[in-house]
Amino acid sequence: MRKHSEIFLYPYPKQKIVKKIALVFPERYEVGMASLGFQGVYHLLQSSPFLSVERFFYQGNHQPLSVETGRPLDEFDVIMVSLSFETDILHLIEMLTLSHIPIENSQRSHPPLIVGGIGCSLLAGYLKKIANILVATDAEFAIPIVIDALLSSHEDWWLSCGKYEGLYLPEDTSSHHLPFVSHPVEKPLHTVILTPENEFPMRGLIEISRSCLYRCRFCLVSHVYGAYRPFSREHILSTAQLYQGKTNQLGLVAATLTNHPESETLIDDLNRMGFELSFSAFRIETLSPRLLEKIIINEKKTLVLAPESASEKHKHLLRKMIPNDVFLERVKQATAIGIKRIKLYFLIGLPEETESDLYDMVHLIQEISRLSKQQAKTYGYTPEIIVDINPLVPKPFTELAHVKMEDVATLKKKILFLKRHIHGLGRVFVSGESPRRAHLQYDLAWGNLSWDEILSLSKHKHP
Ligand code: SF4
Repeated sequence: MRKHSEIFLYPYPKQKIVKKIALVFPERYEVGMASLGFQGVYHLLQSSPFLSVERFFYQGNHQPLSVETGRPLDEFDVIMVSLSFETDILHLIEMLTLSHIPIENSQRSHPPLIVGGIGCSLLAGYLKKIANILVATDAEFAIPIVIDALLSSHEDWWLSCGKYEGLYLPEDTSSHHLPFVSHPVEKPLHTVILTPENEFPMRGLIEISRSCLYRCRFCLVSHVYGAYRPFSREHILSTAQLYQGKTNQLGLVAATLTNHPESETLIDDLNRMGFELSFSAFRIETLSPRLLEKIIINEKKTLVLAPESASEKHKHLLRKMIPNDVFLERVKQATAIGIKRIKLYFLIGLPEETESDLYDMVHLIQEISRLSKQQAKTYGYTPEIIVDINPLVPKPFTELAHVKMEDVATLKKKILFLKRHIHGLGRVFVSGESPRRAHLQYDLAWGNLSWDEILSLSKHKHP
C-alpha cells in the first residue's frame, strides 16, 4: 500500500482516466525505487492526464499488490516491466504466476505486457515468449509512442508500436539479443519520488550523462548505450532546483563523472545551492587533487576505486589501463584529508589468469592497507577497506563476449585464495557477487538454459 513517507516531486493532475497501467520492477521496493530508469518511466507515463500508474515490486512468495491501492496485477489494462538485471526474469515469472496471469503471450489474451530496460537487450530470446512488445531504446523515445498507441481505441493497440526503431514485436525478434537503439535526449532522468526506504534514502538522483566516453572491453554501458550524451548544466541545475525544500541530498549519476565537461563547476554550483552530493562513478586518473578533495568531502569521506585488475596484462586486456601507482597516489592524497572508508572493485576469472595475477591484486591491497594505516598517526583512526571481488561475466555486445566464463569451482578457489592472503591485514573486508549467481547471469544472458529450466528455476529459490 501507498507509503506515506514518499515525497512526490510533481503533482500529476488527471482528467478522465482511459487506461490503468501496472508498472512493474521485479525486484524489492528499495532496489526499484533507486532505479533512475524505473523512476523515469513512471514520470513519463504518469505525466499523461489520461493514464493512472500504479507500482509493483517483487514481494517474494506473496502475490504482488500495487503500492498505491493494494490492487492485484490482473486488474490493470496493461503491464509494463522495467528489467534491469538478468535474474529479474525469474522474479517476473514468479510475479505473473502468483497473480494467476498466464506467463506466455500465446496463452494470454489479457493484459498485454511490455518489457523494457537493459535486460530486454540481453534476454530477448526468453522475453519474446512473455512480452507483447520488447523495448530496446531510450524511454524518452519509446514511452510517447506507447502512450499514443495505448490511448487509441484499437483493440490490439500494441501492434502499431512494432513499426518504430527500437520497439519490437515478439515475432520480429529472431536473436537472443536485441541491439539498443539510442536517440538524442535533452533532459536528464531524475528521481521523482523521494523515499527513506531506498538504497539512497531521501536522495534525489540526477543523471548527468548517458553512456561513457571510455570503451573498457568488458563494460556493457559503453557498448550498449551508444554515443556519450552529457546533459547541459542548465538542465541539471533546473532539475536540482525541484528538490529544494524537499531534500538536501543529491546523487549525480554518470558512468564516469569526469567525462562531463562541466563536472567541477557543477559540483560547486550544487554545493552553493546547499546540496550534499554523492557520485556514482569516476575515473580516478582524471581527478585533479582539488576535485578528489571535493568528492571525498561530499561523499562523507568514502573513496571508491575500481582497478578491476592489478596485473598489467589484464589492465591491457580490459582496456582499463590505470597504473597501480595512480591508485596508491590517490589513496595517499585521500588519507592526508582523513577518509573513513576505501572501497575497491576487482574482477576475477579473467582470461589466462594465473596465481601471479592474483598475487598482484594481493600486493596492491596490502600496499593500500599500509598507506591507510599511516593515516592513524594524524587522525587517530584507520579507514576500513572494502574489497569487492566479482567474477567476470562476459556480456553480449562487449569485446569480451567471446570469452567463456570461468567455472564456479575455480572461481570459489580464487576467492578463497584471495581471502586467505588478505586475512590478517586488519580492517580489510571482502564482499562481492557469489560465483553461482554470477554464472546464472551468464547462462541467462547467453540463452544457455532451456525455457523449461527457466520456468523451474523461477519456482525454486535461485542463488
Ligand atoms: S570507464 Fe567505467 S563505465 Fe566507462 S567503459 Fe570503463 S568500466 Fe565502463
